[in-house]
Amino acid sequence: MSEWIEKSAEEWQQELTPEQFRVCRQKGTEPAFTGVYYDEKTPGLYRCVCCGNALFHSEHKYDSGSGWPSFWQCVSDDSVHTHSDSSYGMQRVEVTCGRCEAHLGHVFDDGPKPTGLRYCINSVALALETEKA
Ligand SMILES: [Zn+2]
Repeated sequence: MSEWIEKSAEEWQQELTPEQFRVCRQKGTEPAFTGVYYDEKTPGLYRCVCCGNALFHSEHKYDSGSGWPSFWQCVSDDSVHTHSDSSYGMQRVEVTCGRCEAHLGHVFDDGPKPTGLRYCINSVALALETEKA
C-alpha cells in the first residue's frame, strides 16, 4: 500500500481538477470556509484525492474554527510526510501525502490532546470514503 507514486506534472494535470492540481501539486491553499469538508461530520476515512492513500480518519477530526478540515492525528506514521516550510515569511511544517507527495496542508502544535497537533488540511486534497452504517 505504501508503493511510491511518481507522475509528471502533466500527468497529474490530466487526472485532477484545476483546483486539485493547484492545491495538491502547486502547494496552493483553498480559501477558509469554502472547502467541502471543513464542517463535515460523516464518519469515514479521508483519502488522498491524488492517489487514494489513507490519510485521516473522522475519529480524529475536530472543529478548530479555522475553516479548514482539522485533525489531531493521521492514520499511521507513514500516511503523511512533514517538511519544514519557510515560504511567505512564516515558519511552518508542510504536510504531504506519504505516497505521492501531494501537498495537503500544514501541521501546527496548537491542537487538542493527546497529540497536541493540528493538521490543517485543504478539503480539495481529500476524498472522504464514508462508512456504511
Ligand atoms: Zn497521495
